[in-house]
Amino acid sequence: MELDSLYQEVILDHYRSPHHKGLSANKDIQVHHNNPSCGDEVTLNLSMKGGVVTDLTWDGVGCSISMASTSVMSDLLVGKGYKDAMNILDNFVELMQSKGQSVGDESILEDAVAFAGVSKFPARIKCALLGWMAFKDASSQVMQ
Ligand code: ZN
Repeated sequence: MELDSLYQEVILDHYRSPHHKGLSANKDIQVHHNNPSCGDEVTLNLSMKGGVVTDLTWDGVGCSISMASTSVMSDLLVGKGYKDAMNILDNFVELMQSKGQSVGDESILEDAVAFAGVSKFPARIKCALLGWMAFKDASSQVMQ
């Protein structure tokens, strides 16, 4: 129970004070993704140099899960190489598909394990994945 409330606090903190929110003028690519079932929208600006994420900023509107997840993701992925970033992303997708059976690997996902409980609620999984799918789309286009 204590862990549950701690994790909720991480989500609320990121929702109230999102990190890397506000689109940077410098970008290699911009993508816009939405989640019509909830009304969440994210625009993401990405810059990469030598395969490393140098700048990742976003703006958006939506529920606390979608906004907090995008905030946590941008903290995690800035400074990471493409392969590392994809590994983290795959880990997060696996966690979201775990139907509440996984607590997540904190050594890889850090604050993103806070979303483990979301995997029990199929309707909210798309909220948690919105920013991550936008990043996957943007980074794969930059790496082409
Ligand atoms: Zn949502």
